[in-house]
Amino acid sequence: MMTNQNIPCPACGTAIQIEINQLLSGTQFSCPSCGSLIGLASEGQPLVQEMIDKLEEIKNNSSKKPDKEK
Ligand SMILES: [Zn+2]
Repeated sequence: MMTNQNIPCPACGTAIQIEINQLLSGTQFSCPSCGSLIGLASEGQPLVQEMIDKLEEIKNNSSKKPDKEK
């Protein structure tokens, strides 16, 4: 499964490519544009949490069986 995601830099809005697994293990990612660090310990945390929630939702949805037969 692809775990690469783009999240917008909280400082300048540039899309930063991050890898969820690395993020969860504490790695920080730096914005290519302004150099801000994104990580679980940074101000990007709510954003990251939201993104993880969204991923979980997608995962749950895709593992559900299609409901169309009814
Ligand atoms: Zn930035």
